[in-house]
Amino acid sequence: MSDIPVRVRFAPSPTGPLHMGGVRTALYNYLFAKKNNGTFIIRIEDTDQTRFVPGAQEYIMDALQWCGIMPTEGPRLGGEYGPYIQSERKEMYRPYAEQLVADDKAYYAFDTAEELTEMREQAKKMGMPNWQYNSVTRTSLKNSLSLSTDDVQRRLDNGEAYVIRMKMPRNIDIRFEDEIRGWVVVNTNNLDDKVLFKSDGMPTYHLANIVDDHLMKISHVIRGEEWLPSAPLHVMLYDAFGWDCPKFAHLPLLLKPDGNGKLSKRDGDRLGFPVFPTDWKSEDGEIYTGYREQGYFPEAFINMLAFLGWNPGTTQELFSLSELVESFSLNRVAKAGAKFDPDKTRWFQQQYLRATDDAVLAEKLSPLLDNKYNLDQLTVVCQLMKERATFVKDIYSEGSFLLEPPTEFDETTVNKKWKDNAEQLMVDWQDRLGLISSFSAENIETEFKAFLEEKGLGIGAVLPLFRLLVTGKGMGPSMFDISAFLGKEECLKRISAGINTLQTA
Ligand code: GLU
Repeated sequence: MSDIPVRVRFAPSPTGPLHMGGVRTALYNYLFAKKNNGTFIIRIEDTDQTRFVPGAQEYIMDALQWCGIMPTEGPRLGGEYGPYIQSERKEMYRPYAEQLVADDKAYYAFDTAEELTEMREQAKKMGMPNWQYNSVTRTSLKNSLSLSTDDVQRRLDNGEAYVIRMKMPRNIDIRFEDEIRGWVVVNTNNLDDKVLFKSDGMPTYHLANIVDDHLMKISHVIRGEEWLPSAPLHVMLYDAFGWDCPKFAHLPLLLKPDGNGKLSKRDGDRLGFPVFPTDWKSEDGEIYTGYREQGYFPEAFINMLAFLGWNPGTTQELFSLSELVESFSLNRVAKAGAKFDPDKTRWFQQQYLRATDDAVLAEKLSPLLDNKYNLDQLTVVCQLMKERATFVKDIYSEGSFLLEPPTEFDETTVNKKWKDNAEQLMVDWQDRLGLISSFSAENIETEFKAFLEEKGLGIGAVLPLFRLLVTGKGMGPSMFDISAFLGKEECLKRISAGINTLQTA
């Protein structure tokens, strides 16, 4: 790495909530910055006022906070290179655009939107569907290259609306080396004269992006593949200003689970998984579910995201954020699109849940149950149930029998096991349980084995019935652990109550 300090930025436009693809971009920027002792910056790119969505900016900041990947410079955070919201930098951009005009790298264009639409329509009729404002067509359009100097001056003096366009030179190969894709070469004949400065006095994304990356001393531009087509223009702009170009790294797309096309915000609720980090309520009142509200831990979400496009080159899959920082490199980011896998995402969550301390899980579970159980009790519930849960809420939905007697009995087990001799067998077992003086899992197990021996029965003939009466379920954690947790009195009571219910059913 060169001596230039690493400064990277995540530059979302506040046109809606942050899609998980955006979070992945933010994450890779974060990891790259931390790995290289650099700075991670967030800049809000809101120059397109027509696409501004209220609340989006706050959403983005809150989402990064939840993910634990906060930048160190940006709105709310401050920093030496602010403001970090482009609309607040509005006045800075015009001189740069004017400078390009003065240097003959850009020009004023007076064509109205209607005139340009008309042009496109005409071209379409003549069999040219991809009409562009470029080095060929510009000569017959209304701009400072085709009009006389007087005419241009008169229009400017009259306050006529204009835009400033890039004067894209003809037939030049633009080359740059992308950190992920290698050399990219594009001929300028394939590029149009992009608008750099709009008639509303705002820069376009392209100009503002380059000016800000330069002023904010950005060393690496790490962003989504959808910006790759804009990169040659950006390279041209750096060149036009005589500035050094940052390094580019264009990240692979996130694909739908079947690999067919980009993962879009509509896919989420349609296919039953979230695409947003946290809940988002759209302006028309529609709610898009977030990972947070579904019960994902941010660490699991981040670990999963890190693997969408990157791999460590080993078989290790579980990485804390600091381990990700340690292992991350752009060299190991793939070019090909990364398929999102909802099952794998749940798997990550499961692993994180299992690795979480029982007492910590109990603290997370308690508020979901209106804090009505004591924490020691919940800690044991978590210990018994966490292997069978993906989310904290599952611990209760799967293990409520640990806190309350069952009200329903698993039908399959009832049909298969609640036979003629079942009741007597359970009454006998209940008597045996009653005799155990120290009601530990170990003692219950010893007694159970002796009981089977005596009756000449196998586990399958007795244990499912015991489980059914005590928990209402067909499966679950060790019955000896469950019984010990519930205590003798409760177990005996449940056996009687269960027998009563099943008798009358
Ligand atoms: N504002 C662009 C976006 O919304 C940023 C592209 C870039 O990082 O240059 O993604």
